[in-house]
Amino acid sequence: MKTIEQIPFPRRAAIIGGGLGGLSAAIHLQLAGYLVTLYESQPRVGGRANLIARAGFRFDTGPSLLNYPWVFEELFEAAGRRFEDYVELIPVDPSIRFVWPEGGTFTLSSQIDRLREECERLEPGSSPGLMAFLADAEFKYNLSFQKLVRRNEDNPIKWAAAMNVREMRSSAVWRSLYSELNRFFRNPRMCEALGSYAMYLGGSPWTLPGLFSILPYGELAHGLWLPKGGIYGLVEGMERLAREWGVTIETNKRVARIVTANGRVTGLAFKDGSTADWPVVVSNVDVPTTQTQLLGRSKPTKMRMTPGVITYYWAIKGKVDNIKHHTIFLPDDFKDSFADLLERGRIPRNLPFYVSVPSETDASLAPEGCTAVFVLVPTPRLSELGPMEWDKTVADVRAQVLARLASHDIHIDPTHFAFEDIWSPEAWAENFGLYDGSAFGASHTLFQVGPMRAKNYDRACQGLYYVGASTTPGTGMPMVVLGGEMTARRVLRMEGV
Ligand SMILES: Cc1cc2nc3c(=O)[nH]c(=O)nc-3n(C[C@H](O)[C@H](O)[C@H](O)COP(=O)(O)OP(=O)(O)OC[C@H]3O[C@@H](n4cnc5c(N)ncnc54)[C@H](O)[C@@H]3O)c2cc1C
Repeated sequence: MKTIEQIPFPRRAAIIGGGLGGLSAAIHLQLAGYLVTLYESQPRVGGRANLIARAGFRFDTGPSLLNYPWVFEELFEAAGRRFEDYVELIPVDPSIRFVWPEGGTFTLSSQIDRLREECERLEPGSSPGLMAFLADAEFKYNLSFQKLVRRNEDNPIKWAAAMNVREMRSSAVWRSLYSELNRFFRNPRMCEALGSYAMYLGGSPWTLPGLFSILPYGELAHGLWLPKGGIYGLVEGMERLAREWGVTIETNKRVARIVTANGRVTGLAFKDGSTADWPVVVSNVDVPTTQTQLLGRSKPTKMRMTPGVITYYWAIKGKVDNIKHHTIFLPDDFKDSFADLLERGRIPRNLPFYVSVPSETDASLAPEGCTAVFVLVPTPRLSELGPMEWDKTVADVRAQVLARLASHDIHIDPTHFAFEDIWSPEAWAENFGLYDGSAFGASHTLFQVGPMRAKNYDRACQGLYYVGASTTPGTGMPMVVLGGEMTARRVLRMEGV
């Protein structure tokens, strides 16, 4: 990318929204010589990766699983800084434990001997399959990041042509994730566990392409991490970097409208009645929300969105036994639950859910002797659910979660809560502009990856760009941070810098 000396005169760009993608785009544009102002509607940046800090507890609101640390190291390196001077990463290993109703478990680890032992426990003789899986997924992972994910390529044929025949065949885009996993593992529980990552990408393991075996692989190979101070410790590090480089950050500043004239962006109008001229605007607000609410279009670009979530934040006075940092509770009827969630538009009868106890890894996240517990329950999107009595629904779901936990000898008594917060999909939509209450943005189905995903620029409005979960390359903290760099490159190319 160009540096300030190479740019004819300082150019100006506004970013709407301080999610991780917005912060990354702001840093990259500022590094490239733009003068950047970031407007955030909430009192603090971070977006979905936000913070509830109360009574000595620190809860991350959304993301809790941090992987691909190299992405963040690269960002800081691009800014001439060392990531470790800003963010301290604590390894979480064993990483995730999967639990089934009858008590079966499967625990992942980045330590190969431990992982091999665990696989052998579930499926004797599975070691060669595990090693073959890791080798195959490593090939896919390298292929994805070296040739596919990071390119601003609009033409699907040119995009795919970067792969040679062997790479094309190994990419497994025509096979499902489940059948890809089944090539290496015969034990259905192992396939269910490794396939359950599909939910975050808005598909089931039977509908998402096999290429996404890179998800569990990426976590196994590059580890699972918790920044000191929780995920918000990472946000704080990125915010500090942005400010040090001169990005102006205005919080509590909601954009009401993107102002355009003759097919080009000219500025922003704010909810407080003020306006500002801007020749370039990058929206970090979910793409369909930007298009409908900020541009006033009747319909957004057509895209399939990921499910919503109900999240519970339990500040517990006391310790909770029999649970570690990350646990995914899966149902017996795994396939049927996915069908409820993604096809039938109803909250599954047998809930799959995820529980995080980050204070197990970083004791500073809860007062001494206390426990911070975060629960995430996936739901269909708001439009699929129709009118809901959310107070009743979140209470019913909470009772189911507590009962399932108790069945595994994990006893949590709500009378011991110092406080409890609950965010429904409606609250998520309202707080951060998540379209249709979709928690993770646009899905990663085959026709919504690479050049087929919503572009990081607006075709009908020059000077308007996108960054974040629903545009390219995709959802998840590392992806939106990579997306910030891609959007900055796009701006430089399209603005003729
Ligand atoms: C519950 C949950 C769990 C998750 N778990 C993980 C995980 O474990 N690991 C992982 O990698 N990813 C996870 N994700 C996904 C990850 O959080 C997102 O992909 C990523 O954080 C999205 O970043 P973004 O750049 O799209 O910005 P967002 O987080 O969407 O931020 C957009 C920002 O724009 C602001 N905004 C909206 N409207 C306006 C306006 N009109 N004016 C000004 N500002 C505005 C919002 O307040 C917000 O700060 C999770 C997401 C959720 C919801």
